[in-house]
Amino acid sequence: MLPRPSLNRFMASVDATEADTLMVGLPFDGTCSFRPGARFGPAALRDVSFGIETYSPYLDRDLEDIRFSDLGDLELPIGNREKVLAEIEAFARSVPDRKILGLGGEHLVSYPLMKVMAERHPDLHVVQFDAHCDLREDYMGEVYSHATVMRLISTHVGPSNIHQLGIRSGTREEFQFARKHETLVPARKEDVEALRPRLEGKPVYLTIDLDVLDPSIFPGTGTPEPGGITFDTMMALLKRLDGLNLVGADIVELAPHYDATGVSSVVAAKIAREVLLMMSPLHGASDTVERQAEPKNTTVSA
Ligand code: MN
Ligand code: MN
Repeated sequence: MLPRPSLNRFMASVDATEADTLMVGLPFDGTCSFRPGARFGPAALRDVSFGIETYSPYLDRDLEDIRFSDLGDLELPIGNREKVLAEIEAFARSVPDRKILGLGGEHLVSYPLMKVMAERHPDLHVVQFDAHCDLREDYMGEVYSHATVMRLISTHVGPSNIHQLGIRSGTREEFQFARKHETLVPARKEDVEALRPRLEGKPVYLTIDLDVLDPSIFPGTGTPEPGGITFDTMMALLKRLDGLNLVGADIVELAPHYDATGVSSVVAAKIAREVLLMMSPLHGASDTVERQAEPKNTTVSA
């Protein structure tokens, strides 16, 4: 069950014993309905992390102000979905006092993480960024699939506690289910601002399927869907969720080999930086005094 040693680590990772947040790679893509390759996502994301800054001008916080540890990847038996799910679940249960940021892998890897968090935190809300509803009851007869992951978690948290941003693809039945339970939220700043009061004071799990982004800026994914949001919109929406009680998160569906430029991996790494900063408590930020004295408009507007 221990993660295998990894040759690389996400930048600014500290020792696991002093970490509030554990980052772990979940390299599984066994149920991908179109192009596989997300198993290579965690390694690609780490590789490029050294090319970006630890400081986020969007949030005005630095990875060096938080304590997270990149554990490497779980060693998952790619061809055995049940065992993969069981191992991810066992990992989540093995660290009851830490927050987990899972790096996919395909979206099904989120299910065991969300399930454990739903048990741990009653009234858990799940915020999903995705192009796809992922609300099917089954995909080609398979109940456990990246196309069913949100339907699966809806049985644990209740469909009305699911909030789906950026959705633009699904079956008629999925959209009927989504409309019935009012899960769909337009990926606009004002709509996220309107959603926010429902999430204040509640435990929130954030699941980011990167195909929510437009394929023009994020081609490195298995199921690209035109009509997605821009990187700037993604940052603006994340910023409007900042300060909520994020108890867990994941970033999934980076399939780096479909993007010869490598920029998709950079996009994923920058989003990982923001999510780490959003979910982790601050420790002795050296510039706190300076920051308080600064005018409020010095952060990047998004
Ligand atoms: Mn998905
Ligand atoms: Mn998707």
